[in-house]
Amino acid sequence: MPRAATCLFAAPSPAWQAYSRLRRGLQRLAEDLYLLRGFPPYAINEYLAEDVLIDAGSRHAAGRILRQLAGRDVSAHALTHAHGDHQGSSHEICQKLDLPLWCGELDAPAVEDGRILERMPRHPITAVFGRAFPGPPHPVARRLHEGDVVAGFQVLDTPGHSAGHISFWRESDRTLICGDVFTNIDTITGLPGLHEPRSFFTPDPARNRQSMRRLAELEPALVCFGHGRPLRDPGQLSALVARLKD
Ligand SMILES: [Zn+2]
Repeated sequence: MPRAATCLFAAPSPAWQAYSRLRRGLQRLAEDLYLLRGFPPYAINEYLAEDVLIDAGSRHAAGRILRQLAGRDVSAHALTHAHGDHQGSSHEICQKLDLPLWCGELDAPAVEDGRILERMPRHPITAVFGRAFPGPPHPVARRLHEGDVVAGFQVLDTPGHSAGHISFWRESDRTLICGDVFTNIDTITGLPGLHEPRSFFTPDPARNRQSMRRLAELEPALVCFGHGRPLRDPGQLSALVARLKD
């Protein structure tokens, strides 16, 4: 544990501030939807929707996620897609909490054989992240399809960033969990801002742009990303999509 400031008038150290943020628990975004605290904040996001954990960070995130889920009712774990920064801790968390793992049907082979990097574009940066983040393979208990319902959200097929990428849409309050179809941070520089995902992490960028257009047409009131702060301005999605070339 980082040491707290011992003098009442001294500012807490950055390490203590970061530790305090982590201890504050989940951030409520909407009814039955919480964002887990990450470090750096919003760099890699996981969500608790009702009793379903959505995404599980890199393989270094299990301790942080398990601490935040302690005492909470969690009955399943779902993935937006089978990339290492989302499935990295899936195996450990599913084992420790005895959870079934669910993902889009076309991403199930990658989750089950663990050969994630070879399904991504060949690029030096992809190779670095592709080796540092993924976790062990894990059996998929349920293959999700368009129209399935998970924790009150409808599953949407949104391929491109991975073959079986899915998003979660709750029409009643227009809340969208979009995985990496969009990112609300530059995933290399860490600067905030709405982007299409980097092409060297995206096997089929043209297909992902189709998914971006589809999700922008929903005009969500709240968008929850795999990377970046939640967004409550649907006009930003439409404006980005309007600038796409193909
Ligand atoms: Zn990602």
